[in-house]
Amino acid sequence: MIYQSDNISVAYLKPGIVRFAFSAQGSVNKFDQQTLTDCKTALDLLHADKALKGVIFCSDKDAFIVGADITEFLSTFLRPEAELIPWIKQASDIFDLAEDLPVPTIVALKGFALGGGCEWSLTADYRVADTTTRIGLPEVKLGLMPGFGGTVRLPRIIGADNAMEWITTGKDHSADQAQKFGLIDAVVAPEKLEAAALSMLEDAIAGKLDWRKKRAVKLQPLKLNKTEATMSFTTAKGMVFANAGKHYPAPMLAVSTIEAAAGLDRAGAMALENAGFAKLAKTDAATAQIGLFLNDQLIKGKAKKAAKTATKAVKKAAVLGAGIMGGGIAYQSALKGVPVVMKDIADKALELGMGEATKLLGKQVERNKLDAIGMAKVIASITPTLSNENVKGADIVVEAVVENPKIKGAVLKEVEALLADDAILTSNTSTISIDSLAANLSRPQNFCGMHFFNPVHRMPLVEVIRGKDTSEETVAAVVAYAAKMGKSPIVVNDCPGFFVNRVLFPYFAGFSKLVLDGADFAQVDKVMEKQFGWPMGPAYLLDVVGLDTAYHCTDVMAAGFPTRMAKLDNDPVAAMYKADRYGQKNGVGFYAYSKDAKGKPKKDIDPATLSLLAGIAGDKQEFSSEDIIARVMVPMINETIRCLEEGIVASAAEADMGLIYGLGFPPFRGGPLRYADTIGLSNFVALADKYAHLGEIYQVTDKTRAMAAAGQRFFP
Ligand code: NAD
Repeated sequence: MIYQSDNISVAYLKPGIVRFAFSAQGSVNKFDQQTLTDCKTALDLLHADKALKGVIFCSDKDAFIVGADITEFLSTFLRPEAELIPWIKQASDIFDLAEDLPVPTIVALKGFALGGGCEWSLTADYRVADTTTRIGLPEVKLGLMPGFGGTVRLPRIIGADNAMEWITTGKDHSADQAQKFGLIDAVVAPEKLEAAALSMLEDAIAGKLDWRKKRAVKLQPLKLNKTEATMSFTTAKGMVFANAGKHYPAPMLAVSTIEAAAGLDRAGAMALENAGFAKLAKTDAATAQIGLFLNDQLIKGKAKKAAKTATKAVKKAAVLGAGIMGGGIAYQSALKGVPVVMKDIADKALELGMGEATKLLGKQVERNKLDAIGMAKVIASITPTLSNENVKGADIVVEAVVENPKIKGAVLKEVEALLADDAILTSNTSTISIDSLAANLSRPQNFCGMHFFNPVHRMPLVEVIRGKDTSEETVAAVVAYAAKMGKSPIVVNDCPGFFVNRVLFPYFAGFSKLVLDGADFAQVDKVMEKQFGWPMGPAYLLDVVGLDTAYHCTDVMAAGFPTRMAKLDNDPVAAMYKADRYGQKNGVGFYAYSKDAKGKPKKDIDPATLSLLAGIAGDKQEFSSEDIIARVMVPMINETIRCLEEGIVASAAEADMGLIYGLGFPPFRGGPLRYADTIGLSNFVALADKYAHLGEIYQVTDKTRAMAAAGQRFFP
């Protein structure tokens, strides 16, 4: 044994040949500070070893290395940029040390080799991978760029164009794909991995392979002439700008770093990468995106725990109602392997539901995510029916019939009587109180809300709504089922609007007030989309949600929170609804919808909307972008804080993720609470105070004021 720690194990495999294994005690290998330190110690020993002839880097776990330890990032990145540069250099120097071993080296890859794991493999002279390998540089997804030499070595191994594509998209690749790019030298079956690595290394030691020549390429400037370079980098920048946009600086900085380093040797190029990494580490986008990753881990961890504790496994599901939502829920359940009965009272609805599922599955086949047999299996696992008899035997039922308390009450009661005593009943209601629906049931402990978002196959969030009588076993089983469906479940307590809609409606109220004060609704949309980063501004979102639905919801919210969310006089939402302008569903809302020459849906300003609004709103007024953002966002942030304070949602992390997954809150801002942290809580309070005269939705809670005064934040 040459060196052994909790993270690596380095020993002679046979005379002259060292096996350098990543062998973390935890579940996966990752680069935390301690592993880096251990690698440095071991590499120093190898550099001094006169008997050394070759090194195999490999893993004792199922995967090679999953990346850097992201849990260490946020606290480290609090340090000033000037301190981060030497910090990252010290780490990347260790990768250079691996590359500079005076003997041939090979890496044996399996499972994930991502981020730092991929970068370690780039230091080796040869890469052999087994068929389980997924390799890539996902750093941009955290608002960062590779920091352990990825921007330097990858372009020199697979060419600048390919490397920029890998780095700016952050996608990972199979072993076969990576071999086609020229990154991997051989792909073998898992059981042959280390033997193949050893054999190749012995060929290099014997001089049958020219490892020095292979290594030299990585130490020199990129081989690109001036015209090629201009073409390459200009195209890459254009693509990155079009795809990532101005709110995500990481991919663009990665490209310009590779460009600036193209004519430099390794040391010069590494210095630029170190500086670029440190700069990105200090951006709000990186903080937000790293926060998102950690929040997502928390949600996944809770779902895993729920799956372990759930006493009831869901093997068969039933959905009541085959409409927009019921059809989507049935499709998603079947796709993820839980057979489902889809019940409706109308044959036509069942036909539409099955038709929609077939269309979505067809798209999966087109994208090679499913084959024809797989598609047939999924379709066969959806049983359309007009009879409640077929719902018997379901472990879980999701009710998704029309949003009418009387109908829902009757449907739930009737179905409950058919189910086994331990079966779970849920409702996908958007507005009706879970406790009021539970009141008529015999087993309210087995009942909760299961609120999906439209379109079900695309929106990741499921709000699991705990009523006052819902048992924790029921919550755990529903969380586990939602996770099995590939969704991100967040458990919330029952209240009007639950969590997501409760927070959305004050935002809509902020928008309505702006319009009544003379703002141009299209201008508000433009600012909220282009500057704030929402996928849709509030007017457009209202058109998509449906102004009839929104109008009905404002009633529910007003009844639930009579002072804060009282109905506005002349509310534009009500005016639209009363003028039969329901939005996209009937072609006219705030905008008028039609199809362009290619048949794609398009939206236009409709003069009828302008005259309708002119009748209820004050004189036209110009509002600055800052004003617009504050007037719609302050109510949303305030309501999110209230939900957290009242325990409607359990943590700041889940609150932020709920709005990102349920509403498409701009991810680079990390969610409403991270956004409040970013602008600073005392600045947020000052901003809200400026608008407090506009109504209660702008008024901060006492606790927020106290937190701001004490310099506290929502996230550490
Ligand atoms: P929808 O009108 O498209 O579908 C409702 C279906 O229920 C229809 O096919 C109808 O025939 C059927 N139905 C009516 N009575 C029935 C009964 N007794 N038994 C079985 N089926 C019956 O409505 P939707 O948009 O799918 O909404 C369904 C539920 O989901 C509502 O509670 C709604 O609030 C909620 N929801 C909707 C959305 C959305 O964006 N559409 C989002 C989240 C939640």
